[in-house]
This record gives sequence, C-alpha cells and structure tokens, in this order.
Amino acid sequence: MKMNTITWVDLARLKKAAKAAKATLPDLTHMQRLNAIAAAEYGVRHFHELEKRYDAQVASHVDVDGGAHHCRFCSFTFDGTLPADIKAHSERHQLFAEAQATLGFVPMSYKEREQVKRTGYEWMRSPDPGTQRQGALAVLLSHFERSMEHAVDGGRWHKHPYFVEYLAYALPGAGFVPESIRQRLAKEFGDKPGGIPAGATDWPSQAAVKVTRSASDAAASVRLRESVSQAAKTAAEGLVAT
Ligand SMILES: [Zn+2]
Repeated sequence: MKMNTITWVDLARLKKAAKAAKATLPDLTHMQRLNAIAAAEYGVRHFHELEKRYDAQVASHVDVDGGAHHCRFCSFTFDGTLPADIKAHSERHQLFAEAQATLGFVPMSYKEREQVKRTGYEWMRSPDPGTQRQGALAVLLSHFERSMEHAVDGGRWHKHPYFVEYLAYALPGAGFVPESIRQRLAKEFGDKPGGIPAGATDWPSQAAVKVTRSASDAAASVRLRESVSQAAKTAAEGLVAT
C-alpha cells in the first residue's frame, strides 16, 4: 500500500494507466478502469478518493488569513471566497506540480528572489573574483527564476532553457554586471546574443532561437542553481542575524 499523499503526478499516471488498460479490460468504462487501478495500487474503492486526497494535499500548502489565501508551493495569493480565484489557483498549482516533476524544482517566490538578488549585488562589489562570480550568478539566478515562474504559469517551461543555457543568452545583455566579471562568466558559460531581447531578462514566449535543453545542462543547472541559491540565502540570513 502506498503512502497517503497524492500528487498531481500520481493522478496523471493513473489516468494514463486507465487509458492503456482499455485493451486488457475492454468491458469496463474508463471510470471503472480508473477505480480498479486505484483500488489495486492504493487500496481505495474509488479514484475520486484519491482526488480528494490530492485536494487536501494542495490545501496543506495554503495559509489562510481571513479571505486572503496564500499558497506557499506556487506562490499565489488569492481570494478563497471567489470561485474564479480558487479555480485560478488550482490551475496554477497543477502547472507548478507538473513543472516540478520535470524540472526537479519549483521557481523561487518573489521574496526569495529579492533576497538572492540583494546578496548578489553585494557580492559583486567584493574585490575577490570568486565572490564576484558568485554575486553575478546570484543576480542572474533571480532573473532566471522570475522568467521560469512566468514560463511555468504559461505552461511553457519545457521550452525554457535550463539555468546554464539561460546564462549564455542572458550574459550579452547583462549590463548590471561589471564588464570584467561579465567577460569571465561569458568565457565560462558562453555568450549567445539574440535569445533575450535587449532590456529584458525574461526568456521570450516566442523565442527566435532554438534551445538545446540537454540532459547534461539539466543536471549542471540543478546543481548550480542549488549552490548559488543556498549560499545567497545563508549569507542573507547571516546579515539579518548580526
Ligand atoms: Zn498552489
């Protein structure tokens, strides 16, 4: 028997399995096949029970303050008394869960991004080249995270470059990074003009270039994203504490 938490990915997998079982269970309706698979895998009588568990799982991320609801998972604030808002949240939440399953992370919230960005600007002022590099990466990461949030919300994260590839496209227009640091990073990550329009930091929804999104980029990006964000957050918390 599996554990209690049901994610969107679990539901999607069962729906897919029910469709595939059409050949082996031809006398059952789609709903009956769903129920049968849910029963076999989770020991529940109806698929609907899993949907209810999923709803409870979603609700567990939501902080309620009067009518104002805030979801910590998909960073969304909405009016919990308005059906349209509740629907908007559930759609966004599902996109974020789907993206997390593919990307291995959820884009940072606005607050986290600002923290990482502030630390990044501070580090860029350091005389130490290693700290400068880390600082520029932190600022660029905060831009990447906002860009990725928009891509996830728009259901097009699978067309968004990974962090390492994003850096190569972002560096030509990164005038906020001192030129000597920018050039060192361009040597390390590449320098690809034309991907991100001048003055913008978001990956465009209609990109003029084709992204690579290689498996090695994916792994390197997750590692780099993790180390830069952890270092920046630790530093920011240290500053608050002292
Ligand atoms: Zn949510």
